[in-house]
Amino acid sequence: MSRRLLISSVSLALVLAIVFGLYKLSSSRTYQAFGDLVARVETGRPVIALTFDDGPTARFTNEVLGILDDLDVKATFFVTGREVTENPAETRAIVAAGHELGNHSYSHPRMVMKSYATYRSEIEKTDAAIRTIGYEKPLHFRPPYGKKLFGLPWYLSSTGRTTVTWDVEPETYPEVADDLDAFVAHVVDRARSGSIVLMHVMYESRATSREALPLVVAGLRERGFTFVTVSELLEERK
Ligand SMILES: [Zn+2]
Repeated sequence: MSRRLLISSVSLALVLAIVFGLYKLSSSRTYQAFGDLVARVETGRPVIALTFDDGPTARFTNEVLGILDDLDVKATFFVTGREVTENPAETRAIVAAGHELGNHSYSHPRMVMKSYATYRSEIEKTDAAIRTIGYEKPLHFRPPYGKKLFGLPWYLSSTGRTTVTWDVEPETYPEVADDLDAFVAHVVDRARSGSIVLMHVMYESRATSREALPLVVAGLRERGFTFVTVSELLEERK
């Protein structure tokens, strides 16, 4: 191999390694470059936070609230600013039922390689939309698709926000997402004290997730777990 070819091969390998590294970093559930990120809380108490991303939607919010009410479970809903603005009554119903809200961006973009102004607008517009319906508790942030690199964590960190991801994600696995038994077993087997479970229940396509919810709660209760909101879980760190 000529010297020039060798150098260009090594350079290409290096570039690919860096791109791959950045991709892995952007997708990490447990690490970000700046600020506070929580995927699970280290605690001896058998508590778990159920979290629901996206929405609220006019179609499924009441059904989901009914399921949670029957189960007597309080959960955390990471909502988008756009859907809060479109569905204020559903957002108020979530809050009135005693659940917690979190910020899941305004328009649900992949929040990497964007401008600082975009990060600020996506986050601040969503906080403002949530405040408009009268919700006053602290708002934590969950990035769409769990994606973040440098700019987003920098903005979150500089404004004192905590990033909340998850450590149990049944819907990520195609063989689990639409198989009720596999879904329930996945969550019940993998959840640990301090776990944060991610589910999507606000769209038509997630019928299995809605159906699984009471079974997941029953299975986890059988293992001795109780349910808390994300803010309550974060309190366990102190
Ligand atoms: Zn989402």
